[in-house]
Amino acid sequence: MNPDKAKEESSFLKVVFDQILLISTGKCSIDENQLVALEYDEEKLNTLAGLKMLHEDLELYKEEYRAKLDMEYKLKAQEKKNKDLEQFNYMASHDLKEPLRTVKVFSQLLQNNYQNLSDDKIEEYLNYINISATSMVKLLDSLLTYATVSDTIVKTKVDLNQTVNLLTKDLKTTIGDTIIEIKKLPTVQADETAIRQVLQNLISNAIKYRDPERKLAISITSCSSADKDTICVSDNGIGIHKDFQETIFLFLKRLHSKSAIEGCGIGLSVCKKLIENHGGEIWVESEVNKGAQFFFSIPK
Ligand code: ADP
Repeated sequence: MNPDKAKEESSFLKVVFDQILLISTGKCSIDENQLVALEYDEEKLNTLAGLKMLHEDLELYKEEYRAKLDMEYKLKAQEKKNKDLEQFNYMASHDLKEPLRTVKVFSQLLQNNYQNLSDDKIEEYLNYINISATSMVKLLDSLLTYATVSDTIVKTKVDLNQTVNLLTKDLKTTIGDTIIEIKKLPTVQADETAIRQVLQNLISNAIKYRDPERKLAISITSCSSADKDTICVSDNGIGIHKDFQETIFLFLKRLHSKSAIEGCGIGLSVCKKLIENHGGEIWVESEVNKGAQFFFSIPK
């Protein structure tokens, strides 16, 4: 073959090869003017025109595939929402029934028998009614807090170093001489208020569930992959038994009695809702008496 012709063909092949690469990675569409400028003969033009058709078909296929994925994602999200709502209703009605029953029992006892009851007994029964009513109010507040966590998120660029620094300043009085180690954190695309709330809950829990036997140490670190940033808040506190590491994220689930450690069991369920609204996940790794590492991911 004439060396000039061979050179021309090999450079043409290179152009075609580059086009295939660009097309297959979705980075280009072939433009007619480009073809004219390249002054290819009809045969070559036909080949490139064929590539263009292939590209268009691929684009169409990608569109359809994206629409299908989108539909599947929406369906799954709706199924999950329904399941969450079912569980929320169950927990809410179950936990509300308990103080209501107490109020009912003791008010009936008072109503049916108050003439024969001593002042001390009357005071004791009224006290039970009072405690139950207070716990019902707290529960209703929790329900309201959980129910009003908005599904809508407004994403902006959030520099997590700034968020954590502000938070630790706010928590200064509670933190005391705690060692907080903060590694360089990423900037994420997220709802700033939501992410601040998640970090605040996790740091507050690390303080609340500290081990009284040792000085509290908290560390906040991150790791990033191509599609997500994962943040980890870890502590050296009392830890969580593996049997409860999933249930603690459920609404109103607590592992401690109110008298032992103050709390109402909604913090982590709110965190879960906020992170899932971002399309991320939240989970814990822990061993009893060896601290806990709470992780949450934010898709890029
Ligand atoms: P609350 O703290 O009000 O009980 P949360 O939803 O924040 O509610 O937490 C649920 C449960 O998870 C807590 O009752 C506690 O048992 C457990 N927990 C949360 N964070 C930690 C932690 N850092 N260390 C040990 N246990 C924890």
